[in-house]
Amino acid sequence: MKNRMMRMPEKGRFVEVEEEMPKASGSNVVVRIEYCGICGSDMHFFQNGAIGTRKAPPNFILGHECAGTVIEVGESVKSLKVGDRVALEPGVPCGECEFCRTGKYNLCPDVHFMAAAMPPTDGALRQYMAYPEKWCFKLPDQMSTLEGCMIEPLAVGMHAAMRGEAALGKTVCIIGVGTIGFMTMLSCRAMGVSRIIVSDALANRLEIAKQFGADVTINAKEQDTEAAVLEATDGMGCDIVFEAAGSPYTLKDTWKYVKRGGVIVNVGNAGGEVPYLFGELARKEADIRHVWRYRHIYPTAIDAVSRGVINLKDINPTVFPFERSQEAFEFAFEHRSEVLKTVIKIF
Ligand SMILES: [Zn+2]
Ligand SMILES: [Zn+2]
Repeated sequence: MKNRMMRMPEKGRFVEVEEEMPKASGSNVVVRIEYCGICGSDMHFFQNGAIGTRKAPPNFILGHECAGTVIEVGESVKSLKVGDRVALEPGVPCGECEFCRTGKYNLCPDVHFMAAAMPPTDGALRQYMAYPEKWCFKLPDQMSTLEGCMIEPLAVGMHAAMRGEAALGKTVCIIGVGTIGFMTMLSCRAMGVSRIIVSDALANRLEIAKQFGADVTINAKEQDTEAAVLEATDGMGCDIVFEAAGSPYTLKDTWKYVKRGGVIVNVGNAGGEVPYLFGELARKEADIRHVWRYRHIYPTAIDAVSRGVINLKDINPTVFPFERSQEAFEFAFEHRSEVLKTVIKIF
């Protein structure tokens, strides 16, 4: 048996290559990857060959949103058996540093994260990969591996909602409802927030957000977002503001939308310098919190999806077969405003 994978010799081009099968040893298992979602970061690498200063190494394998079936287990694996379906958490931290030991393993400086350039770590756009048992999370019978591959972006949104302390009684505002804003919205809803305001420059995204339970939608192209947020909140602003557009232009305005004593969550992680009126933020004594990936979220996210608290089926991803990965990436880029998620079906 051979292992087929999509390698990227240069930006914008994949070649399908055949390599040796991975082996399960120790506490590793071999997973047959069934679905791999395309993330914004993958698209950056595909389009530009880099994210900011972080260059994709030659022959990189993209993809970190994946799920599949265990086909082989190492001799010391205890929690998984052949045939188990799993979602893979794509970051493997060192387990030894201060951050790992205190539970903030997403801040580990030595994490190996799939399809990240530093340190260069190959991703999941391949048929089989060996992976530590500890970072493979079993999916319940009623959950598909297609849903399983969407746990990763959901985990980002859920971590953001937790960082913001989303809860019953709160009004939240989500700036930008692409995949991450959308996952943040689903998480906020599941965590019981009372009111969800969303803002985006694309009307079709607002339409989808409305279908999924947004209470107020603001078209940032046609409306003044600040005025609309204040109008919707009786001039108070929101308890939690999520910046999920990943743009310096929207990030710099977040202080305008937050309630006094409220929280701003930067989940979009805009690059570059952002001019910010901290004085205005101080006047409101509002916090800004950041989100770097997630930690300890997979079990909660899988449970929420399997019990129907969060419905990922409605994301309705566009699915391409493995052989057409190149086309899938081109499609994901061209249709990034209409399509919430593009997924590659490997098996
Ligand atoms: Zn992702
Ligand atoms: Zn560590």
